[in-house]
Amino acid sequence: CFITFEGGEGAGKSTQIARLAAWLRAGTEGVPAPREVVTTREPGGSPRAERIRAAVLAGVAKPYGPFAEALLFAAARLDHLATLIRPSLARGAVVLCDRFSDSTRAYQGAAGGVEPGTLAALERVVVGPTRPDLTLILDLPPEIGLARARQRDRAAARGPDRFEAEALGFHERLRAAYRAIAEAEPARCAVIDAQGAPEAVAQAIRAAVAARLPH
Ligand code: C5P
Repeated sequence: CFITFEGGEGAGKSTQIARLAAWLRAGTEGVPAPREVVTTREPGGSPRAERIRAAVLAGVAKPYGPFAEALLFAAARLDHLATLIRPSLARGAVVLCDRFSDSTRAYQGAAGGVEPGTLAALERVVVGPTRPDLTLILDLPPEIGLARARQRDRAAARGPDRFEAEALGFHERLRAAYRAIAEAEPARCAVIDAQGAPEAVAQAIRAAVAARLPH
C-alpha cells in the first residue's frame, strides 16, 4: 500500500513519517505486522532522482520557470517509481513517501502558475496507475509552519529552504491548494491538523491510516 505525506514548509512531514513507519513496523493493534515499510521522499528518493532534485534546488530550471521544474521533477518521479516505489509495492511493502504528485500540483501548479491540465497530463503518463492509496495532508497556518522551519534550520545551522523566504501569500496559496485537493478527492485524502504536539499529530495519522486502509 502506498501512502503519501503532503503539506507546506514546517508541517512536520519527516517527523511523522518516521513515527508512522515505527508504528507500522511494530505491528500495533488492528494492523497485522511486522510488515516491510519503505520510507522515501520526493523530489528525489532514488539516486538519479536525487541528482535531479539537487540540480533543481540549485536553480537549473530557473531560466525556464516552474514548467521546467515540473518536467524535471516528472523525470525524477519516473525513475523513483521505476526503481523504488513500484518494486517495493510489488513485493507487498508499505511505501511511505514524503511528498508526491500533490506537491507538484501545489508548488508548480497553484503557487507556480503552471496550468492544471498540463500537470494532470504529466501525472497521467508518469504516475499512471501507481496513485497513492492514502494521502495525509498535514495542515497548519503557514506562519506557524514557517516559524518551525526556521527553528529547524537554525538548529541545523543551515540557510532557509528554497521557499521559506517567499511572501506569506505564496504559502497561503499552497495551503489552499492542498485543501482543494482533499476536497476534490476525499476518498484518497485525509486532512490532518498539524498544529498540535508531535504525539497528537501522530495519533491522528494512525487513526486515519487504521480507518482508511484495508488490513
Ligand atoms: O519537502 P522538502 O523540504 O524536502 O522539499 C525541498 C524543497 O523543494 C522545498 O523548498 C519545497 O518547497 C520544494 N519543492 C518544490 N516543488 C515540489 C516539491 C518540493 O519546489 N514539487
